Amino acid sequence: MFGFVSGVGVAGLLKRSAASSRETCGNGFSRGAPVAVSAPQRIDAPSLIKVQQPMTITEKILAKAADKDFVVPGDNIWVNVDVLMTHDVCGPGTIGVFKREFGQDAKVFDKEKVVIIPDHYIFTADERANRNVDILRDFVEEQDIKYFYDIKDRSNFKANPDYKGVCHVALAQEGHTRPGEVMFGTDSHTCNAGAFGQFATGIGNTDAGFILGTGKLLVKVPATMRFEMNGQMPDYLLAKDLILNIIGDIGVAGATYRSLEFAGEVIPQLSMEERQTLCNMAIEAGGKNGIIAPDAITSEYVDARTSKPYEKFSTDSKASFYADRTYNLADLEPVVAKPHSPDNRDLAKNCRDVKITRTYIGSCTGGKIEDFVAAARVLQYQKVRVPTFLVPATRRVYDDLHQYKINGQTLAEIFNSAGCIDPASPSCAACLGGPKDTFARINSAEVCVSTTNRNFPGRMGSKEGQVYLASPYTAAASAITGYVTDPREVYDFDSNKRHPAETFASLEE
Ligand code: SF4
Repeated sequence: MFGFVSGVGVAGLLKRSAASSRETCGNGFSRGAPVAVSAPQRIDAPSLIKVQQPMTITEKILAKAADKDFVVPGDNIWVNVDVLMTHDVCGPGTIGVFKREFGQDAKVFDKEKVVIIPDHYIFTADERANRNVDILRDFVEEQDIKYFYDIKDRSNFKANPDYKGVCHVALAQEGHTRPGEVMFGTDSHTCNAGAFGQFATGIGNTDAGFILGTGKLLVKVPATMRFEMNGQMPDYLLAKDLILNIIGDIGVAGATYRSLEFAGEVIPQLSMEERQTLCNMAIEAGGKNGIIAPDAITSEYVDARTSKPYEKFSTDSKASFYADRTYNLADLEPVVAKPHSPDNRDLAKNCRDVKITRTYIGSCTGGKIEDFVAAARVLQYQKVRVPTFLVPATRRVYDDLHQYKINGQTLAEIFNSAGCIDPASPSCAACLGGPKDTFARINSAEVCVSTTNRNFPGRMGSKEGQVYLASPYTAAASAITGYVTDPREVYDFDSNKRHPAETFASLEE
Protein backbone atom coordinates (compact mmCIF):
# COMPACT_ATOMS: atom_id res chain seq x y z
CA MET A 1 0.00 0.00 0.00
CA PHE A 2 1.31 3.42 -0.91
CA GLY A 3 1.10 6.09 1.72
CA PHE A 4 1.74 9.73 2.34
CA VAL A 5 4.64 11.11 4.30
CA SER A 6 3.20 11.02 7.78
CA GLY A 7 2.14 14.29 9.26
CA VAL A 8 2.88 16.47 6.23
CA GLY A 9 -0.73 17.32 5.42
CA VAL A 10 -2.26 19.20 2.53
CA ALA A 11 -0.54 22.48 3.33
CA GLY A 12 2.82 20.79 3.27
CA LEU A 13 2.09 19.07 -0.02
CA LEU A 14 1.04 22.37 -1.56
CA LYS A 15 4.21 24.00 -0.35
CA ARG A 16 6.37 21.25 -1.73
CA SER A 17 4.41 21.15 -4.99
CA ALA A 18 5.28 24.80 -5.55
CA ALA A 19 8.90 24.17 -4.68
CA SER A 20 9.05 21.27 -7.11
CA SER A 21 7.75 23.32 -10.00
CA ARG A 22 10.38 25.95 -9.35
CA GLU A 23 13.07 23.35 -9.71
CA THR A 24 11.66 21.76 -12.89
CA CYS A 25 13.82 22.88 -15.78
CA GLY A 26 12.19 21.01 -18.66
CA ASN A 27 8.80 22.69 -18.83
CA GLY A 28 9.64 26.04 -20.33
CA PHE A 29 10.71 27.71 -17.10
CA SER A 30 14.30 28.23 -16.27
CA ARG A 31 15.46 28.04 -12.66
CA GLY A 32 15.57 31.50 -11.15
CA ALA A 33 13.73 33.18 -14.06
CA PRO A 34 11.43 36.11 -13.15
CA VAL A 35 7.85 34.99 -12.53
CA ALA A 36 4.91 37.36 -12.99
CA VAL A 37 2.67 37.63 -9.96
CA SER A 38 -0.93 36.94 -10.81
CA ALA A 39 -4.10 35.76 -9.15
CA PRO A 40 -3.78 32.49 -7.28
CA GLN A 41 -3.99 29.58 -9.66
CA ARG A 42 -6.59 26.91 -9.23
CA ILE A 43 -4.94 23.64 -8.28
CA ASP A 44 -6.75 20.57 -9.47
CA ALA A 45 -7.65 18.16 -6.73
CA PRO A 46 -5.76 15.20 -8.23
CA SER A 47 -2.46 17.02 -7.80
CA LEU A 48 -3.08 16.95 -4.05
CA ILE A 49 -3.29 13.19 -4.05
CA LYS A 50 0.41 12.88 -4.32
CA VAL A 51 1.59 9.31 -4.20
CA GLN A 52 4.71 9.00 -2.13
CA GLN A 53 7.32 6.33 -2.22
CA PRO A 54 6.92 3.90 0.68
CA MET A 55 9.52 4.58 3.33
CA THR A 56 10.81 3.16 6.56
CA ILE A 57 10.53 5.11 9.77
CA THR A 58 14.20 6.08 9.57
CA GLU A 59 13.78 7.32 5.99
CA LYS A 60 10.72 9.35 6.96
CA ILE A 61 12.48 11.07 9.84
CA LEU A 62 15.49 11.90 7.70
CA ALA A 63 13.29 13.14 4.84
CA LYS A 64 11.50 15.47 7.22
CA ALA A 65 14.78 16.70 8.70
CA ALA A 66 16.06 17.43 5.18
CA ASP A 67 12.78 19.08 4.13
CA LYS A 68 12.31 16.53 1.37
CA ASP A 69 9.32 14.57 0.08
CA PHE A 70 11.16 11.32 0.32
CA VAL A 71 14.62 9.82 0.51
CA VAL A 72 16.06 6.47 -0.46
CA PRO A 73 18.99 4.57 1.00
CA GLY A 74 22.27 5.99 -0.25
CA ASP A 75 20.97 9.55 -0.64
CA ASN A 76 23.33 12.12 0.82
CA ILE A 77 21.22 14.77 2.51
CA TRP A 78 21.72 17.74 4.79
CA VAL A 79 19.61 17.31 7.87
CA ASN A 80 18.61 19.84 10.49
CA VAL A 81 19.64 18.73 13.95
CA ASP A 82 17.17 18.71 16.82
CA VAL A 83 19.56 17.66 19.59
CA LEU A 84 23.35 17.52 19.86
CA MET A 85 24.67 15.72 22.92
CA THR A 86 28.24 15.62 24.09
CA HIS A 87 29.98 14.52 27.29
CA ASP A 88 33.21 14.89 29.20
CA VAL A 89 35.28 12.55 27.03
CA CYS A 90 34.49 14.08 23.63
CA GLY A 91 33.10 17.47 24.60
CA PRO A 92 36.46 19.24 24.95
CA GLY A 93 37.58 17.99 21.53
CA THR A 94 34.28 19.04 19.98
CA ILE A 95 34.58 22.49 21.50
CA GLY A 96 38.13 22.73 20.15
CA VAL A 97 36.96 21.92 16.60
CA PHE A 98 34.12 24.42 16.90
CA LYS A 99 36.38 27.25 18.02
CA ARG A 100 39.06 26.46 15.47
CA GLU A 101 36.65 26.36 12.54
CA PHE A 102 34.11 29.00 13.52
CA GLY A 103 36.22 31.37 15.60
CA GLN A 104 36.90 32.06 19.25
CA ASP A 105 33.84 34.29 19.53
CA ALA A 106 31.45 32.04 17.60
CA LYS A 107 28.09 31.14 19.11
CA VAL A 108 26.51 27.69 18.99
CA PHE A 109 23.66 27.22 16.53
CA ASP A 110 21.01 26.93 19.23
CA LYS A 111 21.80 27.02 22.94
CA GLU A 112 18.63 25.04 23.71
CA LYS A 113 19.47 22.19 21.31
CA VAL A 114 22.84 21.38 22.81
CA VAL A 115 22.84 18.99 25.76
CA ILE A 116 26.07 18.48 27.73
CA ILE A 117 26.30 15.61 30.19
CA PRO A 118 29.43 14.83 32.21
CA ASP A 119 29.19 11.12 32.94
CA HIS A 120 32.22 9.05 31.96
CA TYR A 121 35.25 9.79 34.14
CA ILE A 122 33.72 11.65 37.04
CA PHE A 123 34.61 10.05 40.35
CA THR A 124 38.36 9.97 39.89
CA ALA A 125 41.41 11.86 41.05
CA ASP A 126 42.73 11.90 37.50
CA GLU A 127 43.52 15.56 36.77
CA ARG A 128 43.02 15.34 33.02
CA ALA A 129 39.62 13.74 33.46
CA ASN A 130 38.60 16.42 35.93
CA ARG A 131 39.92 19.14 33.65
CA ASN A 132 37.59 17.89 30.90
CA VAL A 133 34.57 18.65 33.05
CA ASP A 134 35.95 22.10 33.84
CA ILE A 135 36.28 22.78 30.08
CA LEU A 136 32.63 21.83 29.59
CA ARG A 137 31.56 24.14 32.42
CA ASP A 138 33.50 27.10 31.01
CA PHE A 139 31.99 26.54 27.57
CA VAL A 140 28.46 26.28 28.94
CA GLU A 141 28.87 29.55 30.83
CA GLU A 142 30.36 31.26 27.79
CA GLN A 143 27.57 30.06 25.48
CA ASP A 144 24.70 30.19 27.99
CA ILE A 145 23.76 26.61 27.11
CA LYS A 146 20.54 25.60 28.78
CA TYR A 147 20.97 21.88 29.38
CA PHE A 148 24.15 21.12 31.34
CA TYR A 149 24.05 18.43 33.99
CA ASP A 150 27.02 19.62 35.98
CA ILE A 151 28.99 18.08 38.80
CA LYS A 152 31.26 20.29 40.92
CA ASP A 153 31.59 18.34 44.15
CA ARG A 154 32.89 14.90 43.17
CA SER A 155 33.09 13.72 46.76
CA ASN A 156 29.31 13.55 47.01
CA PHE A 157 27.19 13.43 43.88
CA LYS A 158 24.09 14.15 45.94
CA ALA A 159 25.45 17.64 46.60
CA ASN A 160 25.13 18.37 42.88
CA PRO A 161 21.47 19.00 42.15
CA ASP A 162 22.02 19.16 38.37
CA TYR A 163 24.13 16.02 38.01
CA LYS A 164 22.37 13.12 36.31
CA GLY A 165 24.75 10.33 35.29
CA VAL A 166 25.07 8.25 32.14
CA CYS A 167 24.16 10.39 29.14
CA HIS A 168 21.86 8.03 27.23
CA VAL A 169 19.66 7.21 30.18
CA ALA A 170 19.72 10.82 31.37
CA LEU A 171 18.67 12.04 27.91
CA ALA A 172 15.59 9.87 28.11
CA GLN A 173 14.78 10.68 31.72
CA GLU A 174 15.10 14.42 31.12
CA GLY A 175 12.81 14.45 28.07
CA HIS A 176 15.39 14.95 25.32
CA THR A 177 14.41 11.79 23.43
CA ARG A 178 11.38 12.63 21.30
CA PRO A 179 9.81 10.73 18.41
CA GLY A 180 10.44 12.00 14.89
CA GLU A 181 13.47 14.09 15.77
CA VAL A 182 17.13 13.84 14.79
CA MET A 183 19.70 13.49 17.56
CA PHE A 184 23.46 13.26 17.20
CA GLY A 185 25.81 12.54 20.04
CA THR A 186 29.56 12.20 20.45
CA ASP A 187 29.06 8.70 21.78
CA SER A 188 28.54 5.52 19.81
CA HIS A 189 25.61 4.41 21.95
CA THR A 190 23.57 7.49 21.07
CA CYS A 191 21.54 4.97 19.05
CA ASN A 192 19.92 4.22 22.43
CA ALA A 193 17.38 6.98 21.71
CA GLY A 194 16.01 5.11 18.71
CA ALA A 195 13.80 3.38 21.26
CA PHE A 196 11.65 6.52 21.15
CA GLY A 197 11.18 6.53 17.36
CA GLN A 198 13.93 9.12 17.03
CA PHE A 199 16.78 9.00 14.51
CA ALA A 200 19.77 8.98 16.83
CA THR A 201 23.37 8.11 16.07
CA GLY A 202 26.90 8.63 17.27
CA ILE A 203 29.31 10.98 15.53
CA GLY A 204 32.91 12.12 15.93
CA ASN A 205 34.20 15.40 17.32
CA THR A 206 34.66 16.97 13.88
CA ASP A 207 31.04 16.40 12.88
CA ALA A 208 29.89 17.56 16.30
CA GLY A 209 31.97 20.73 16.02
CA PHE A 210 30.37 21.37 12.64
CA ILE A 211 26.90 20.91 14.12
CA LEU A 212 27.71 23.31 16.95
CA GLY A 213 28.42 25.95 14.32
CA THR A 214 25.67 25.20 11.80
CA GLY A 215 22.94 22.99 13.28
CA LYS A 216 23.23 20.73 10.24
CA LEU A 217 25.01 17.59 9.15
CA LEU A 218 25.44 15.72 5.88
CA VAL A 219 24.06 12.20 6.29
CA LYS A 220 23.90 9.23 3.94
CA VAL A 221 20.51 7.58 4.35
CA PRO A 222 21.02 4.06 5.71
CA ALA A 223 19.19 1.05 4.32
CA THR A 224 17.01 -0.67 6.89
CA MET A 225 17.39 -4.17 8.31
CA ARG A 226 14.16 -5.24 9.95
CA PHE A 227 14.06 -7.61 12.91
CA GLU A 228 10.58 -8.87 13.66
CA MET A 229 10.15 -10.78 16.91
CA ASN A 230 6.84 -12.55 17.47
CA GLY A 231 5.13 -14.57 20.15
CA GLN A 232 4.94 -14.22 23.90
CA MET A 233 8.12 -13.02 25.60
CA PRO A 234 9.22 -15.85 27.91
CA ASP A 235 9.53 -14.76 31.51
CA TYR A 236 13.19 -15.70 31.68
CA LEU A 237 14.24 -13.47 28.79
CA LEU A 238 15.14 -9.80 28.83
CA ALA A 239 15.84 -7.42 25.96
CA LYS A 240 19.55 -8.07 26.44
CA ASP A 241 19.00 -11.69 25.42
CA LEU A 242 17.16 -10.56 22.29
CA ILE A 243 19.84 -8.17 21.09
CA LEU A 244 22.70 -10.54 21.93
CA ASN A 245 20.90 -13.18 19.89
CA ILE A 246 20.54 -10.82 16.94
CA ILE A 247 24.17 -9.70 17.10
CA GLY A 248 25.23 -13.32 17.43
CA ASP A 249 23.34 -14.08 14.23
CA ILE A 250 24.57 -11.23 12.05
CA GLY A 251 27.97 -10.47 13.60
CA VAL A 252 29.59 -7.25 14.75
CA ALA A 253 29.81 -6.03 11.16
CA GLY A 254 26.50 -7.53 10.06
CA ALA A 255 24.61 -4.25 10.02
CA THR A 256 27.41 -1.86 9.05
CA TYR A 257 25.85 1.52 8.24
CA ARG A 258 22.34 0.03 8.32
CA SER A 259 19.34 1.06 10.33
CA LEU A 260 18.20 -1.75 12.63
CA GLU A 261 14.43 -1.57 12.98
CA PHE A 262 12.93 -3.72 15.73
CA ALA A 263 9.31 -4.72 15.27
CA GLY A 264 6.73 -7.43 15.84
CA GLU A 265 4.58 -8.69 18.67
CA VAL A 266 7.43 -8.22 21.13
CA ILE A 267 7.34 -4.44 21.05
CA PRO A 268 4.12 -3.86 23.04
CA GLN A 269 5.53 -6.30 25.60
CA LEU A 270 8.63 -4.17 26.16
CA SER A 271 8.86 -1.14 28.42
CA MET A 272 10.75 1.93 27.25
CA GLU A 273 13.77 0.84 29.26
CA GLU A 274 13.83 -2.57 27.59
CA ARG A 275 13.42 -0.93 24.18
CA GLN A 276 16.44 1.22 25.00
CA THR A 277 18.47 -1.90 25.71
CA LEU A 278 17.60 -3.20 22.22
CA CYS A 279 18.46 0.01 20.39
CA ASN A 280 21.50 0.76 22.55
CA MET A 281 23.38 -2.20 21.10
CA ALA A 282 22.57 -1.57 17.42
CA ILE A 283 26.06 -0.14 17.15
CA GLU A 284 27.51 -3.47 18.32
CA ALA A 285 26.43 -4.87 14.96
CA GLY A 286 27.86 -1.82 13.18
CA GLY A 287 24.47 -0.18 12.77
CA LYS A 288 24.00 3.49 12.01
CA ASN A 289 20.96 3.58 14.24
CA GLY A 290 18.44 1.36 15.97
CA ILE A 291 14.80 2.29 15.90
CA ILE A 292 11.36 1.25 17.13
CA ALA A 293 8.10 2.78 15.94
CA PRO A 294 6.60 4.85 18.76
CA ASP A 295 3.32 3.73 20.29
CA ALA A 296 1.17 4.55 23.31
CA ILE A 297 3.88 3.31 25.69
CA THR A 298 6.32 5.71 24.05
CA SER A 299 3.94 8.64 24.33
CA GLU A 300 3.23 7.94 27.97
CA TYR A 301 6.94 7.99 28.78
CA VAL A 302 7.77 11.04 26.68
CA ASP A 303 4.73 13.10 27.66
CA ALA A 304 5.60 12.65 31.32
CA ARG A 305 9.01 14.25 30.69
CA THR A 306 8.57 16.99 28.11
CA SER A 307 5.90 19.29 26.79
CA LYS A 308 7.67 19.79 23.48
CA PRO A 309 5.58 18.71 20.49
CA TYR A 310 6.80 15.76 18.44
CA GLU A 311 5.73 13.70 15.46
CA LYS A 312 5.35 9.92 15.39
CA PHE A 313 6.36 8.05 12.26
CA SER A 314 5.97 4.43 11.30
CA THR A 315 7.23 2.25 8.48
CA ASP A 316 4.99 1.87 5.42
CA SER A 317 3.81 -1.66 4.76
CA LYS A 318 5.38 -1.61 1.28
CA ALA A 319 8.69 -0.15 2.41
CA SER A 320 11.84 -1.90 1.21
CA PHE A 321 14.35 -3.49 3.52
CA TYR A 322 17.96 -4.47 3.02
CA ALA A 323 17.17 -7.53 5.10
CA ASP A 324 14.13 -8.81 6.93
CA ARG A 325 14.55 -11.41 9.69
CA THR A 326 11.87 -13.00 11.82
CA TYR A 327 12.27 -14.53 15.28
CA ASN A 328 9.94 -16.67 17.35
CA LEU A 329 10.47 -15.58 20.95
CA ALA A 330 9.66 -19.05 22.25
CA ASP A 331 12.77 -20.36 20.46
CA LEU A 332 15.15 -18.05 22.31
CA GLU A 333 17.04 -18.80 25.51
CA PRO A 334 19.22 -16.76 27.89
CA VAL A 335 22.56 -16.08 26.22
CA VAL A 336 25.92 -14.50 26.91
CA ALA A 337 28.49 -12.92 24.61
CA LYS A 338 31.76 -14.57 25.50
CA PRO A 339 35.13 -12.78 25.43
CA HIS A 340 36.11 -10.82 23.43
CA SER A 341 33.29 -9.74 21.13
CA PRO A 342 29.58 -8.95 21.44
CA ASP A 343 28.82 -11.43 18.66
CA ASN A 344 30.56 -14.33 20.41
CA ARG A 345 27.20 -15.69 21.53
CA ASP A 346 26.57 -18.85 23.42
CA LEU A 347 23.72 -20.15 25.51
CA ALA A 348 24.27 -19.31 29.16
CA LYS A 349 23.62 -22.94 30.05
CA ASN A 350 26.52 -23.99 27.81
CA CYS A 351 28.94 -21.89 29.86
CA ARG A 352 28.22 -23.30 33.31
CA ASP A 353 31.83 -24.47 33.63
CA VAL A 354 33.15 -20.90 33.36
CA LYS A 355 34.22 -19.84 36.84
CA ILE A 356 33.87 -16.11 37.39
CA THR A 357 35.54 -13.72 39.81
CA ARG A 358 33.07 -10.83 39.77
CA THR A 359 29.75 -9.53 38.50
CA TYR A 360 29.00 -6.02 37.27
CA ILE A 361 25.50 -4.59 36.94
CA GLY A 362 25.54 -1.13 35.42
CA SER A 363 25.95 1.06 32.30
CA CYS A 364 23.49 2.65 29.91
CA THR A 365 22.40 -0.73 28.64
CA GLY A 366 22.28 -2.58 31.95
CA GLY A 367 22.09 -0.03 34.79
CA LYS A 368 18.51 1.21 34.49
CA ILE A 369 16.03 0.68 37.30
CA GLU A 370 14.34 -2.23 35.55
CA ASP A 371 17.73 -3.91 35.18
CA PHE A 372 18.14 -3.67 38.93
CA VAL A 373 14.60 -4.87 39.55
CA ALA A 374 15.39 -7.94 37.44
CA ALA A 375 18.64 -8.58 39.31
CA ALA A 376 16.94 -8.05 42.68
CA ARG A 377 14.23 -10.58 41.93
CA VAL A 378 16.85 -13.24 41.36
CA LEU A 379 19.06 -12.15 44.27
CA GLN A 380 16.35 -11.81 46.93
CA TYR A 381 16.92 -14.34 49.77
CA GLN A 382 20.16 -15.47 48.10
CA LYS A 383 23.88 -14.84 48.70
CA VAL A 384 26.45 -13.87 46.10
CA ARG A 385 29.68 -15.87 45.87
CA VAL A 386 31.71 -13.26 44.00
CA PRO A 387 32.12 -9.50 44.42
CA THR A 388 29.05 -7.95 42.82
CA PHE A 389 29.33 -4.33 41.73
CA LEU A 390 26.23 -2.19 41.24
CA VAL A 391 26.43 1.06 39.28
CA PRO A 392 23.12 2.85 38.76
CA ALA A 393 23.12 4.70 35.46
CA THR A 394 21.65 7.90 36.85
CA ARG A 395 20.85 9.55 40.15
CA ARG A 396 17.19 8.75 39.55
CA VAL A 397 18.06 5.07 39.30
CA TYR A 398 20.17 5.45 42.45
CA ASP A 399 17.24 7.02 44.30
CA ASP A 400 14.83 4.37 43.02
CA LEU A 401 17.09 1.62 44.36
CA HIS A 402 16.32 2.97 47.79
CA GLN A 403 12.59 3.39 47.16
CA TYR A 404 11.24 0.48 45.16
CA LYS A 405 10.47 -2.61 47.18
CA ILE A 406 9.96 -6.28 46.45
CA ASN A 407 8.28 -8.27 49.19
CA GLY A 408 8.80 -5.42 51.64
CA GLN A 409 12.52 -4.91 50.97
CA THR A 410 13.98 -2.04 48.99
CA LEU A 411 16.16 -3.08 46.10
CA ALA A 412 19.15 -1.67 47.98
CA GLU A 413 18.25 -3.83 51.00
CA ILE A 414 17.94 -6.91 48.81
CA PHE A 415 21.37 -6.31 47.34
CA ASN A 416 22.85 -5.61 50.74
CA SER A 417 21.35 -8.80 52.21
CA ALA A 418 22.73 -10.78 49.29
CA GLY A 419 26.22 -9.50 50.01
CA CYS A 420 26.61 -7.14 47.06
CA ILE A 421 28.87 -4.10 47.27
CA ASP A 422 26.92 -0.92 48.01
CA PRO A 423 25.63 0.88 44.91
CA ALA A 424 28.18 3.33 43.53
CA SER A 425 27.62 6.91 42.51
CA PRO A 426 25.94 7.02 39.10
CA SER A 427 28.30 7.23 36.13
CA CYS A 428 29.79 5.09 33.38
CA ALA A 429 32.27 3.76 35.97
CA ALA A 430 34.08 0.64 34.73
CA CYS A 431 32.01 0.12 31.59
CA LEU A 432 34.75 1.96 29.69
CA GLY A 433 37.61 1.07 32.01
CA GLY A 434 38.58 4.60 32.90
CA PRO A 435 41.40 5.89 35.10
CA LYS A 436 43.00 3.35 37.44
CA ASP A 437 40.94 4.51 40.43
CA THR A 438 37.60 4.00 38.66
CA PHE A 439 35.03 2.08 40.68
CA ALA A 440 34.95 -1.63 39.73
CA ARG A 441 37.59 -1.22 37.02
CA ILE A 442 39.11 -4.55 35.98
CA ASN A 443 42.78 -4.18 36.87
CA SER A 444 43.92 -7.77 36.51
CA ALA A 445 42.90 -11.11 35.01
CA GLU A 446 39.35 -11.01 36.34
CA VAL A 447 36.50 -13.00 34.78
CA CYS A 448 33.40 -10.84 34.90
CA VAL A 449 29.76 -11.35 33.96
CA SER A 450 28.57 -7.88 33.06
CA THR A 451 25.36 -6.21 31.96
CA THR A 452 27.38 -3.74 29.87
CA ASN A 453 27.45 -3.68 26.09
CA ARG A 454 31.05 -4.28 24.96
CA ASN A 455 33.62 -6.89 25.84
CA PHE A 456 36.56 -6.15 23.58
CA PRO A 457 39.99 -6.72 25.17
CA GLY A 458 40.64 -4.01 27.74
CA ARG A 459 37.18 -2.48 27.48
CA MET A 460 36.64 -2.60 31.23
CA GLY A 461 40.27 -1.99 32.12
CA SER A 462 42.98 -4.63 31.93
CA LYS A 463 43.45 -6.56 28.68
CA GLU A 464 43.92 -9.60 30.90
CA GLY A 465 40.27 -9.40 31.91
CA GLN A 466 37.52 -11.51 30.38
CA VAL A 467 34.01 -10.11 30.13
CA TYR A 468 30.84 -12.11 29.50
CA LEU A 469 28.00 -9.83 28.43
CA ALA A 470 24.65 -10.92 29.83
CA SER A 471 21.20 -9.85 30.96
CA PRO A 472 20.66 -8.72 34.57
CA TYR A 473 18.94 -12.08 35.24
CA THR A 474 21.97 -14.00 34.03
CA ALA A 475 24.40 -11.68 35.81
CA ALA A 476 22.52 -12.10 39.11
CA ALA A 477 22.27 -15.87 38.70
CA SER A 478 25.99 -16.07 37.96
CA ALA A 479 26.78 -14.00 41.06
CA ILE A 480 24.92 -16.58 43.15
CA THR A 481 26.69 -19.61 41.77
CA GLY A 482 30.11 -18.17 40.93
CA TYR A 483 29.82 -19.59 37.43
CA VAL A 484 28.14 -18.36 34.26
CA THR A 485 24.60 -19.49 34.94
CA ASP A 486 21.31 -19.67 33.09
CA PRO A 487 18.90 -17.80 35.41
CA ARG A 488 16.37 -20.66 35.17
CA GLU A 489 18.77 -22.77 37.24
CA VAL A 490 18.46 -20.56 40.32
CA TYR A 491 15.11 -18.81 39.93
CA ASP A 492 11.66 -20.25 39.47
CA PHE A 493 10.19 -18.12 36.70
CA ASP A 494 6.99 -20.16 36.63
CA SER A 495 5.90 -19.20 40.11
CA ASN A 496 7.46 -15.71 40.18
CA LYS A 497 6.13 -13.59 37.41
CA ARG A 498 8.48 -11.41 35.44
CA HIS A 499 8.16 -7.64 35.68
CA PRO A 500 6.34 -6.55 32.55
CA ALA A 501 6.12 -2.79 32.16
CA GLU A 502 2.53 -2.65 33.27
CA THR A 503 3.24 -4.27 36.62
CA PHE A 504 6.51 -2.45 37.24
CA ALA A 505 4.59 0.62 38.36
CA SER A 506 2.82 -1.49 40.94
CA LEU A 507 6.02 -2.30 42.81
CA GLU A 508 5.85 -0.98 46.31
CA GLU A 509 7.30 2.47 46.91
S1 SF4 B 1 27.77 3.39 30.26
FE1 SF4 B 1 29.37 2.52 28.94
S2 SF4 B 1 28.47 2.29 26.91
FE2 SF4 B 1 27.14 3.67 28.11
S3 SF4 B 1 27.84 5.74 27.60
FE3 SF4 B 1 28.96 5.11 29.44
S4 SF4 B 1 30.87 4.16 28.70
FE4 SF4 B 1 29.46 4.30 26.96
